[in-house]
Formats: sequence, structure tokens, C-alpha cells
Amino acid sequence: MKHVITLIPGDGIGPEVTESVVRIFKAAGLQIDWERHDAGVTAFDKTEETLPVALLDSIKRNKVALKGPVTTPIGQGFTSVNVGLRKALDLYANLRPVRNLPGVTSRYTDIDLIIVRENTEDLYAGLEHEVIPGVVESLKIITERASTNIARFAFDFAVKYQRKKITAIHKANIMKLSDGLFLDSCRAVARDHMDDIAYEERIVDAACMHLVMHPEKMDVLLLPNLYGDIVSDLCAGLVGGLGVVPGANFGRDSAVFEAVHGSAPDIALANLANPTALLLSGLMMLDHIGEHEVAAKIRAGLDAVLMKGAIRTRDLGGDATTTAFTDAICREVHA
Ligand code: NAD
Repeated sequence: MKHVITLIPGDGIGPEVTESVVRIFKAAGLQIDWERHDAGVTAFDKTEETLPVALLDSIKRNKVALKGPVTTPIGQGFTSVNVGLRKALDLYANLRPVRNLPGVTSRYTDIDLIIVRENTEDLYAGLEHEVIPGVVESLKIITERASTNIARFAFDFAVKYQRKKITAIHKANIMKLSDGLFLDSCRAVARDHMDDIAYEERIVDAACMHLVMHPEKMDVLLLPNLYGDIVSDLCAGLVGGLGVVPGANFGRDSAVFEAVHGSAPDIALANLANPTALLLSGLMMLDHIGEHEVAAKIRAGLDAVLMKGAIRTRDLGGDATTTAFTDAICREVHA
């Protein structure tokens, strides 16, 4: 079956890793019409919009997109396109599975964590202003609606995939109202699941220590936006780094699949990026659209290349280029 899917190459290493996934999917025999759209600075140069309407329309039409990272200027410039996209399409749930990969050595083995991050509010609302010179205020927005939605998503996921425990992560000892509301909303949903899923709460700082000391004791992590972002990178470090952790943003109508990592300007255009994280995001996308068999075939090809170990990118201790690593997976999925 032929699929029409929106493709956002992004910038930095985005075009390199998205191209890698496109090639691997083609090698595996998938028939996909990619609707390519620029975002961020690359779009602005052409259209004077960082999040073009045509891009949003394409995702609304196709319901599914694969997205490379998009750079957000630090401390100045335009607001985050990534946040804008999630808000525009109400992609309220960010799902990030963190697992060991075969043949990839890391500090821990048997890591199997699921991060469920609220994706639309919190300090990412981007509501900031200068009160008086030298004093600025950022508004942390937490609503019962969004907190309940993300808690429901986490519990539904946990039931569907037979997970054992959900840990809500917060700082409600300090932010009693905002994180307090997040927790109250999680507790209300947890009460409906008392018989099937264990529920616990941890303060974010202690949760970080626990994750580093005993990650095997954690299962599904349920977090508001900002803690979810930070804890995601921490968890990526447990399994080999940002080059290997995928993600997906789900709304009620559409889903956008993207890796946890950013545009990695330090290695952009150097053919050094590891495409594994985006490839795994792409495999989540294939499962989402029902292409389970091809997804499993590509997964087996990726695992085979990683297990053999001769061809791997620099972040995993090898010296292969993005292209060489991609070629190796293409050969496996052809076989
Ligand atoms: P980053 O994730 O881009 O990079 C952090 C480190 O990890 C760098 O050393 C980088 O080389 C390495 N790395 C990341 N992905 C890799 C890969 N696939 N293979 C090998 N090494 C990899 O984080 P950053 O440098 O803090 O952010 C750069 C830009 O990306 C910023 O503008 C940020 O706003 C943006 N960003 C975008 C997204 C997104 O598009 N969803 C997510 C995070 C950050």
C-alpha cells in the first residue's frame, strides 16, 4: 500500500538523518510519497514564515509526519518551531521509549523506560515579559485539562502495553499550585486504575538521582513539559546517548515522529550523525500506520548492523559516516 507522509527535514543534522531514513525505507520496499516541507530558518529564508501554513495543512491532511530537528535560536530570535508545531496541532503527548540496543554498550543493561511528557504548556508556553529593567517573569501554565489528558494517555499506554508502574514526577513541594495541580490530576486518573497499574510520585531532583542509581526500578515516567525534556536527555545518557533514542508526538488527529535529539550544530553537514534515533522514530511511525512487518524487518536490519559492530557512527565509538551506516542497514533490509 502506498502512503502519503509529510517529511520535515529540519536543519543541522536533520537533512542527513531524514535522508538516511528515507533511503532505508525505500530499500525495505516501502512505497511512500513524501511531502517535503521546510520549517524554521530554512522556511523563513523562502517564505518569511518559520512554521508555514502549507506545512501544517500537509500534516492535517496526511495525519502523519516524520520530522528532523529544527534549531531554535538561544536567548533571542524566533520562538521554537518545535513547540509551535506541537501547539498548532495539539500534539499533547510526547512518548519517548528508552531502551538498550543490541551491541551498544552503555553504563546500564536491561533499561526499558517509557517517558510520557506533557507537550503543550508549562514554561514552554513562552509567556515572558520584563517587569522592570533587570527583572523578568516567565509564566508556568499548568491546566487541569492538559494534565488530565497526559495522565490518561500514560495510563492507557501502560494498560495497553502491560507496563507495571507509573511514576509522576513533579516539584510540588515548591510549586504547590502548578505542580500541585499536575499531581492532583494524575492522582485522579490513577484512582481509576488502582487494580491494574501501580502509581507512585517522586520529586524531580530525587527522581533524577534514582534514575541514575536504579533505572531498572523505574517503568513509565509521567512528567510535565520541562522536566520531561530534561529527564529525556538524562535517560538517553543511560542507553548510549541522544543518537539512539526515538520519540513521537501524538494528538487526537495527527502524529509527528521525531528523535529526542536536536539539530546538533557541532556535527552538522559532516556526515557524522547517527540516524538510529530518527530511524527508530520512523519505525514507531510505521507501527502507527500498520506497517508492522516492514518495521520488524528494518528493526532486525538495524540490530544486525549494530550487533556486528564493524560499522557504527562516532557517537557509538565507531568511525563510520552516516552514509556508510545507512548503506549497511540498506544491505541488511534488502537481504
Ligand atoms: P542536540 O541534541 O542537538 O545535541 C547535543 C549533543 O548530542 C551534541 O554534542 C550532538 O553532537 C550530540 N548528538 C545529538 N544528536 C546526535 C546524533 N543523531 N548523532 C550523534 N550525535 C548526536 O542539543 P543542543 O546542541 O543542545 O541543541 C541544538 C539545537 O537543537 C538547539 O537549537 C535546540 O533548540 C534544538 N533542538 C531541537 C529539537 C527538535 O527539533 N525537536 C530538540 C532538541 C533541541
